[in-house]
Amino acid sequence: MISEVELIKRIRRFPSPPSPPDLLKGIGDDCAVFRPGGADTLSLITTDTLVEGVHFDLSWHPPQLLGQKAAAVNLSDIAAMGGIPRFALLSMAIPTTMAVSNVDAVLEGFLHALTHAGVSLIGGDTVRSDQGLTLSVTVIGEVESGQVLYRSGAKAGDQIWVSGWLGQAAAGLALCRQGQAERKALYPALLDAHLAPKPETALGRALAQSGLVTAMIDMSDGLASDLAHLCEESGLGALVRAESLPISGDCREASQALGLVPEGLAISGGEDFSLLFTAPPAARNAIAGLAGQAVGGQLHLIGEMIEGQGVLLSGDGPSRHIEFQGFDHFSGDRP
Ligand SMILES: [Mg+2]
Repeated sequence: MISEVELIKRIRRFPSPPSPPDLLKGIGDDCAVFRPGGADTLSLITTDTLVEGVHFDLSWHPPQLLGQKAAAVNLSDIAAMGGIPRFALLSMAIPTTMAVSNVDAVLEGFLHALTHAGVSLIGGDTVRSDQGLTLSVTVIGEVESGQVLYRSGAKAGDQIWVSGWLGQAAAGLALCRQGQAERKALYPALLDAHLAPKPETALGRALAQSGLVTAMIDMSDGLASDLAHLCEESGLGALVRAESLPISGDCREASQALGLVPEGLAISGGEDFSLLFTAPPAARNAIAGLAGQAVGGQLHLIGEMIEGQGVLLSGDGPSRHIEFQGFDHFSGDRP
């Protein structure tokens, strides 16, 4: 089946009208960016669709947490631009067999996440589905024009940072798939990462306002893919040190129990929804301080931007290319 990268290339091949001057960024970033009415505040817009059987499995995903996740994955894209989320639209394709109480639970989780983020639901659509539940969400946000962060601003020599642990959501998904209740109960943080990810809205804002960050993307498809996108848009390569990959003790322990390689989950497991960003080495202490004070989160340095192309992983042996080894929704191998 066609990959997302290939599909975007094909879309770009079609003739399109000239880009209007108030459009600052179309396809190719976490959000489209435009300047309404010449204002200093830019508008951000993003959309994401979650399909039953491809992105979630209701046999283990509580509907309330699914609603929360549908909001979170979109809020994460606004965070990746350094923006403030404002409005949301929700379209649902609902199976005729779905209990109304479960529809209510999805809505409750979705609206809870929006309320927590200060976002208003302003519209959407509902249709009948013969093929499972689909949730399609659009979020509109805003950001000051001097503070918007694109994928394209990284410079050679910039350090590469990630917020939080990598591979948590993939380990949580593996636990859910395997389905052993006693084992799942041991790793609530991993399950949470898969079932109810938290967008890094406050961190995204703090990083944008700091003026220290050169490029940013959220981690939806896995480090190998998301960093490759940032590299492509910045016209550079990246070198990641295997020993610097932030992998939690829980992830290592659960991986061992499940017969999985934790580094593999960290590199190609998707859906962590942490932020991946670049900044010059001189900003290192300021960024580390900012994480501690402003957001209380953990930031990890994992490598640096280099001249060239692709994502190199350095470990014990020779460095190897890992770009685009992440989860591609079109490859049809999840959940
Ligand atoms: Mg994104």
